[in-house]
Amino acid sequence: NLFRRAQFQLAAHELRQLPADRGAEIAFAGRSNAGKSSALNTLCDQTGLARTSKTPGRTQQLVVFTLDADRRLIDLPGYGYAKVPEALRDHWRKVIDQYLSDRQSLRGVVLIMDSRHPLKDFDRMMLTFCRDIGLPCHVLMTKVDKLSRGEAARTLQQTRKEMGLLCPDATAQLFSSLHKIGVDEARATLAQWLNA
Ligand code: GDP
Repeated sequence: NLFRRAQFQLAAHELRQLPADRGAEIAFAGRSNAGKSSALNTLCDQTGLARTSKTPGRTQQLVVFTLDADRRLIDLPGYGYAKVPEALRDHWRKVIDQYLSDRQSLRGVVLIMDSRHPLKDFDRMMLTFCRDIGLPCHVLMTKVDKLSRGEAARTLQQTRKEMGLLCPDATAQLFSSLHKIGVDEARATLAQWLNA
């Protein structure tokens, strides 16, 4: 399992601090508290890899995890903290837009959404952006353990339908870090991107 080999490499405050732009990498994006750190830890089968932290300041970095010599996972800063000053939010939005647009080794974005609150403004923006630049996007609708089976199926169907209008090629699945639901399915998509 490639993902079990994930290791923290560095936290970048600017794009020029990122490792050389070769090989293949996958970026993880999501609103703060959506469950992104937990999803990264679950996919990599490691408890303390990505920090599940509620401190806003700490999230304003791009964190690089290496899988092997030329494949990486990138944890993008979370959005949605009221406490983060607006100027800083704008700055990071530009940094992320530039990263997503220019990074040659980027194979796709994993967008983490809380399955109880899907398709918030940030998610819509990210899906539209991926469509505009032709970047693959796979949505993990996480914390699905908090929904009944029926609710989960309905919200997946509804979200896929709405996503189809924003970003027709994007895919979505149910996920739970707590109950380890959808882990193999997510790993399969990521592995396909990294091996393509
Ligand atoms: P991040 O800010 O997006 O990195 O979110 P975290 O991974 O830190 O998770 C935010 C909160 O949601 C934490 O209290 C987690 O324990 C909780 N959480 C994350 N994933 C799940 C899940 O799959 N199920 C449940 N029930 N809680 C989750």
